[in-house]
Order: sequence, then structure tokens, then C-alpha cells
Amino acid sequence: MRVCVLGAGVVGLTSAYYLAKKGFEVTVIDRQEGVALETSFANAGQISPGYSAPWAAPGIPLKAIKWLMQKHAPLKISADPELKKMAWMGKMLANCTEKAYDVNKSRMVALAEYSRDQFIAMRKDIGIKYDDGQGGLTQLFRKDEQVEASEKDIKVLKALNVPHQVLTPAQILEVERVLPPLSISLKADFA
Ligand SMILES: Cc1cc2nc3c(=O)[nH]c(=O)nc-3n(C[C@H](O)[C@H](O)[C@H](O)COP(=O)(O)OP(=O)(O)OC[C@H]3O[C@@H](n4cnc5c(N)ncnc54)[C@H](O)[C@@H]3O)c2cc1C
Repeated sequence: MRVCVLGAGVVGLTSAYYLAKKGFEVTVIDRQEGVALETSFANAGQISPGYSAPWAAPGIPLKAIKWLMQKHAPLKISADPELKKMAWMGKMLANCTEKAYDVNKSRMVALAEYSRDQFIAMRKDIGIKYDDGQGGLTQLFRKDEQVEASEKDIKVLKALNVPHQVLTPAQILEVERVLPPLSISLKADFA
């Protein structure tokens, strides 16, 4: 059977790879001259399944209103009243509850962990070599509200047995050796 994959980013190429392995005759088409030249080009290269979380989260509706006024907002939605967009926004807002966030994050983390395992298997299979570090990810919070907000994520990590540690400001300075020069402002923030 012949399959055409539209888009040669990481998603299109990995889909093509697994389809080809299963015996399909695959053609990948992209509007660019080479592969991975759009979103998959020069991203941060971080693979952190436990960190995956939905944009629809408690507190986001209020933040989104503030972002509308910012030039460099992390999420921008233009204000024109298009029906499809309104429907999408309705669904997004309905998912900004604690309960929906828990369900959605749990699903995302489980999928991301599966994806990470597939990536490790694929890496072995094709023998890709690159500079990778596997020291984990540090999330640093400067404000009490941020620490409190992280509790909902920690709950999901616990439920899914994702290895993690909650560190005090003193412990984080031990783990992240680049932080001590900043410790004065950190200590002030946590005082
Ligand atoms: C700044 C930045 C940093 C990021 N950092 C991370 C990170 O650290 N870790 C992480 O996991 N994720 C990160 N991401 C997200 C990650 O890069 C994307 O989720 C991922 O690359 C998306 O892959 P994709 O294949 O879906 O899309 P793309 O890589 O965008 O691929 C889509 C392809 O489709 C082609 N295409 C589109 N329309 C057409 C058309 N009409 N005809 C033909 N071809 C078409 C495009 O040319 C493109 O090659 C980051 C993203 C950004 C922007």
C-alpha cells in the first residue's frame, strides 16, 4: 500500500519511518527544500515527558487577557470573531478547570512517556549519535504562587510514578552549581 505523508517535520518523518518499517511504500512531501526546516528546526532539543502540560489550565483565562496587551506574549489569539475559533475558545475555557487539567495532563504525560520510549528504541535502531544530557530538568520558581501552582503538576507526576524531587532553595543551590552566584536574589525571593 502507498502512503503520502505531508510535512517533513519530526512528526511526519517519524510517522513515515514507522509506516515504512511496517512495509508501506511511503512518500514524504514538504514545501521546504529539505527536512525539518520549520518548527522542528533548532528547537530547544529538550525531551521532558513529565513537563508536558496542556495550555488549558486554571488561571490561563486571566493570563490570556493580559497577553492580549503584550507584544511578545507566549500565546496570541487575534480578536476577530470567527465561528470555528469561538468554538475552539469555548472548549479551551471549559478545560481550564483543575479537574480537566488533571485528566488532560495525565493523558499528555502518559503519551509523552510512550513517545520518549519509542524515541530511545528508534535511536538504537538507526544509531543516531548526538550530544545528549540526561541529568533531568530543573524547574525554578521565584514566587510562592508558582510553587503553589506546581502542586497540581506534582500530583500528576506522583500518580504516574514519574521520578521527581521537590527541593528547597538550599537544596537547589547544591544541585544546580550555576545558581550560587544568583543565590542572593533567590534567598531574598524565598525569605
Ligand atoms: C522555539 C521552539 C522551541 C521548542 N523547543 C522544544 C523542546 O525543547 N522540546 C520539544 O519537545 N519540543 C519543542 N518545541 C516544539 C517542537 O519543536 C514541535 O512540537 C515539533 O517540531 C512539531 O513538529 P511537526 O512535525 O508537527 O511540525 P513541523 O516541524 O513544523 O513540520 C511540519 C512540516 O510541514 C510542512 N508543511 C506545512 N504546511 C505544508 C504544506 N501546505 N505543504 C507542504 N508542506 C507543508 C512544513 O514545511 C514543515 O516542514 C519547540 C518549538 C519551538 C517553536
